[in-house]
Amino acid sequence: MSIYSADLMATKVVLITGGGTGIGKGIACAMGEHGAKVVIASRKKEVIEATAAELREQGIECESCVCDIRDYVSVTALMSFIMQTYGRLDVLVNNAAGNFPASVDQLSANAFRTVVDIDLNGTFNVSKAAFEAFLKGKGGAVVNITAPFEGWGVAYQAHAAAAKAGIDSLTRTCAVDWQPLGIRVNAVAPGSVSATEGTGRLTEALVGDRPTISCSPADIANAVMFLASDAGRFVSGEIIRVDSATGVDLLRIPVH
Ligand code: NAP
Repeated sequence: MSIYSADLMATKVVLITGGGTGIGKGIACAMGEHGAKVVIASRKKEVIEATAAELREQGIECESCVCDIRDYVSVTALMSFIMQTYGRLDVLVNNAAGNFPASVDQLSANAFRTVVDIDLNGTFNVSKAAFEAFLKGKGGAVVNITAPFEGWGVAYQAHAAAAKAGIDSLTRTCAVDWQPLGIRVNAVAPGSVSATEGTGRLTEALVGDRPTISCSPADIANAVMFLASDAGRFVSGEIIRVDSATGVDLLRIPVH
């Protein structure tokens, strides 16, 4: 049973990048269960179509659109799709990302660039396009999904940690720049979320069989809905860690 009222997100149109899998799918599901009209977008048509069909079977209003967030033309086509389908966008969740475990010496320049391109540049692209198409006219909320890496050296995560540091900075800057227009911009930094592919790969690489405590996509979705809804109407420029100081501790090395 949800801790929120069933109509928390009613009348809101919500875009979730990477909404076909993992945490993004959990956010899409939670938003839809609380009354939102949900659009999910990513590269793999068959994956997002299957997720959208699954959510519709649960009574959720959900559409999918193929989009590569690295490509601004693809992102503007996504905004056109939302305009044609719903005529508005109230909430953007920048969740899509790429990741794999690799130490700096194992990481090629191309691999580093690709992750920064998806995570950081992709977050900028979708934020900028949503701003131009929808948000600047009537306000709204943006929630970026980052990671609890700030202030630490993160083993095997040079690429993702650099990209997420950029997202943290972008979150705070957009919050300031867009505050006069009624646009709130925040971020959620999940810890180790069980049952996601990314965590599976990292856990295998770093901790082997050692048991870790972790949370579910629904726990992340609860924090996202707080920031995206009127519950968080006076909150902007914040990065909320949702990690219960658990699994990610295994990956962190303090910087002194
Ligand atoms: P995931 O299941 O691998 O989800 C990533 C999503 O991003 C996929 O649906 C993927 O779909 C999409 N994507 C990747 N590249 C894209 C591109 N160029 N354009 C559009 N979509 C793209 O991973 P997850 O674990 O749920 O992670 C979701 C978010 O949480 C990420 O921002 C991640 O950094 C963050 N996070 C996760 C954890 C964790 O424990 N899992 C911890 C901290 C932070 P396609 O392949 O179809 O494009």
